[in-house]
Amino acid sequence: MSGVTLNNVIKRYGEVQVIHGVDLDIKDGEFCVFVGPSGCGKSTLLRMVAGLEETTEGAIHIGDRDVTRMDPSQRGVAMVFQTYALYPHMTVKDNMGFGLKMNGHPKPEIESKVAEATRILKLEPYLDRKPAALSGGQRQRVSIGRAIVRGPEVFLFDEPLSNLDAELRVEMRVEIARLHKEIGATMIYVTHDQVEAMTLADKIVVLRLGVIEQVGAPMDLYRDPDNKFVAGFIGSPAMNFVSGTMTASGVDAPGLGGSFDGLVSSAYDGNTVSVGARPEHITLDPAGDSHTVEMTESLGGVSYAYLTSATGERIVVEERGDERTAEGATVGILIDTNRIFLFDGQTEKRIRT
Ligand code: ADP
Ligand code: MG
Repeated sequence: MSGVTLNNVIKRYGEVQVIHGVDLDIKDGEFCVFVGPSGCGKSTLLRMVAGLEETTEGAIHIGDRDVTRMDPSQRGVAMVFQTYALYPHMTVKDNMGFGLKMNGHPKPEIESKVAEATRILKLEPYLDRKPAALSGGQRQRVSIGRAIVRGPEVFLFDEPLSNLDAELRVEMRVEIARLHKEIGATMIYVTHDQVEAMTLADKIVVLRLGVIEQVGAPMDLYRDPDNKFVAGFIGSPAMNFVSGTMTASGVDAPGLGGSFDGLVSSAYDGNTVSVGARPEHITLDPAGDSHTVEMTESLGGVSYAYLTSATGERIVVEERGDERTAEGATVGILIDTNRIFLFDGQTEKRIRT
């Protein structure tokens, strides 16, 4: 098994550059998730690791092998796609063994590898079925099985759960986490879903427009984002942002109900800032009058209150438990100063206080 290293990796399609010099070190056995909005370059980067897209500049290593110009079949990777691409006329068992058969592996070896993948993925009851007689989740398990039998050093997943309905997606997410624990191989997993990223990853790589915005463990990105993009992308519902002014003693943020003393940064020389606060870190104060509750949504154990401040800025507040504040109510908001994030109004870089 092996880690994966990218050095100043660049991808151009003709004149158009879509990956802008990515440096990344994925350790042996790590579960690394590429996350970011549609079109940011996640699939392109993954396909470059797989060898399905040529790398325009830079180098890719798997373990200590330079694979940059290597054929996909030589790289020791196996990829699982969003569409399952199973052979419809073959049984589950034959679908899983087909690649090895084509490569001339002996029958007993194929049988034992398929049996092992069957056990790991709990596919015993379905071995003689054809894909048409399987649910979406079962089909995706078969395509993961096809990757397992190849015994790759690195597994590559490109949005493998996007075609499944919500319930199956949660179930398969847990399956994939279990698979990683059991096999222990290096995995790179692409998704636009920040919940999948948070729950699966050892390491998250947040991409935007072909550039890495930040790399880190899920909770490190949540607690300590480097910029407004990462702060807004990681966490659900998303972080609230209102405009603020930095003064000598703190920050004025009327959208969050007032000023916050002590939030000062000697390193910061601007004064227009974006002020961020997560919905789960704000509580409503029935005695206050800075905000109006426009709407609420109850999900059962938690509800969301959509507020408008006197200055016309909107924020979302999470309320725990099954009580919720009435729509139309006037409220104040309470938030711990150390739960507030500041970002430069222009560059959107984090201002650390
Ligand atoms: P993601 O997987 O994050 O949604 P992609 O990696 O598919 O994004 O695409 C990244 C960018 O590269 C997009 O702007 C896309 O339009 C562009 N792109 C992808 N494939 C090609 C191609 N074959 N030719 C030109 N541009 C492409
Ligand atoms: Mg994609």
